[in-house]
Amino acid sequence: MDEKFDVLILGSSLSGSTLSICLQASGLTTCMIDAKRHPRFAIGESTIPNTSKTYSLMSLKYRAPELAALSSFGSLIERVRTCGVKTNFGFVHHRPGGRAERMHQFPLSEIVETESHLFRADVDHWLADRAVDRGAVLIEGAPTRRIDIDESGVTVACGDGRRISGEYVVDASGRDSILATALSLRTTEGLRTSSKSVFTHMTGVIPFDEVTALRGPKLWHAGTLHHVFPGGWMWVIPFDNHDGAANPLCSVGVCWRIDDGDEKPFADPERAFAEFLDTYPEIGTQFRHAKPAREWTSAGRLQYTARQTVGDRWCLTSNAAGFIDPLFSRGMQNTAAVADRLAEALINRFDGGFQPETFHDVDVLQKNLIAENDYLVANAYTSFRDFELWNAWFRVWQVNQVTGTMRTERRRRQVAEAAAHSAESSGPILADRLGAASGSGLDDLIDAFYGRADRIMDSYRDGTLGAESAAAEFRTLFADVDFLPPSFGLTDMSQPFFDIDMAKVASAVEWARQARPGIRELFLGGLPAM
Ligand SMILES: Cc1cc2nc3c(=O)[nH]c(=O)nc-3n(C[C@H](O)[C@H](O)[C@H](O)COP(=O)(O)OP(=O)(O)OC[C@H]3O[C@@H](n4cnc5c(N)ncnc54)[C@H](O)[C@@H]3O)c2cc1C
Repeated sequence: MDEKFDVLILGSSLSGSTLSICLQASGLTTCMIDAKRHPRFAIGESTIPNTSKTYSLMSLKYRAPELAALSSFGSLIERVRTCGVKTNFGFVHHRPGGRAERMHQFPLSEIVETESHLFRADVDHWLADRAVDRGAVLIEGAPTRRIDIDESGVTVACGDGRRISGEYVVDASGRDSILATALSLRTTEGLRTSSKSVFTHMTGVIPFDEVTALRGPKLWHAGTLHHVFPGGWMWVIPFDNHDGAANPLCSVGVCWRIDDGDEKPFADPERAFAEFLDTYPEIGTQFRHAKPAREWTSAGRLQYTARQTVGDRWCLTSNAAGFIDPLFSRGMQNTAAVADRLAEALINRFDGGFQPETFHDVDVLQKNLIAENDYLVANAYTSFRDFELWNAWFRVWQVNQVTGTMRTERRRRQVAEAAAHSAESSGPILADRLGAASGSGLDDLIDAFYGRADRIMDSYRDGTLGAESAAAEFRTLFADVDFLPPSFGLTDMSQPFFDIDMAKVASAVEWARQARPGIRELFLGGLPAM
């Protein structure tokens, strides 16, 4: 191929295609090179409000309306019929041999769109096609064999013998990233979480609502269900859970903390799953008729990162840069946030020259996202041993999730306003055309909260505090929180559900008007105007 592209993208999965669309819409040329052909299996299926809002933001910022398809279930299902709906995050706490008695549910309220279960084979295919509609070149069935980078550009050698050249290369090829391997960038140094997993797609999974007496505001089967147990957790992500569903499959996986140092995958994942079901008979009932629709994947230690995620003319992104654990469904949000930051850096770079520092903030963002997720997940695994501890940690995660979503929504509105006031032909709405990012002045406050929460868990881990005393410490910590709307009840440990209706939102808006600077702007910018 003689053409020299602006950006070569290895992989045409969610991260590769999202980035390609943003760049093509901004006038840069891209070529995606994928080892496989669409449609093909991919994992990472449950969205969170912050994922959807980030896609909505990017659709406005890069003037790429097709990205808004991933901003709500309603818009997605019109394009990709095989997806499922997510009306809630459900967490049910189990003990070996018993029936579950404790739970949390976070129904997705009217202030965020209903989330989705992405059937990735079809979503990734659809998204890659949209990149091609915008002029991207997609080469499939051509694994990257070698990458050469020098001062004149980048050349990628594919398995089928083709050589493709570009100015810059983004490695979005996931866990086995060729660039991370070639440059010896992989490491697990400093990572706190250690877990492994088995997963597949199944048919015949019984809705948990038919198995348990536990009831939340929404049906468990209408959302992403997490079975949480001492030492691990399980996901149940149905695609058949709405009127007109076109897909009988359900995504199923179990993650165990590695306590014995054995980081290798289970040799017999089917057996590991069967033993798990024997230990938790109520979950066993849910799966008594279930059959795998594809081979089980058995993954050894899930966690890894990269010493460096950007370099001269290259960047590792999303799963190529690192991964922790899917517990809080943050992967696709991170993917979208990094695609956005990277697209902006690339557009700036092509406008203003090839200074390496242009990408420094992408590296910082990726490392921060990994560290934040590691903190949330490692402590969650510790907390699973005792319901009250998990009940507390669940709320630390909620603080993270709610403030993160508010930040993105506020930014989204800034972008929408700027887009409304500028001509379509004036290109993407980059940071220099927007006001300050939201939540300024709030970071120290929230970081201090996370620090205190971490110290309580450390004291529990080292035996200084028992579970009950640690839970009591969390109650004291939560009593001091003045940066969340009280009407949401997020830090009230007696509340298992967070059904945030419009009356609670109105009360939160009233509270935000009186809140201190930083908090005021964050919530007034993120909550619906009242
Ligand atoms: C077990 C598990 C569960 C998850 N669950 C969730 C969830 O519920 N919610 C969520 O938000 N996130 C989840 N994630 C994260 C999610 O999978 C990722 O954020 C998302 O898939 C984006 O990944 P990616 O595009 O970087 O890479 P991938 O999806 O891994 O795609 C990599 C692409 O590169 C291609 N490729 C590989 N090697 C080569 C090569 N040599 N040359 C060219 N192409 C190559 C592959 O064919 C593929 O198309 C989960 C991740 C895991 C591991």
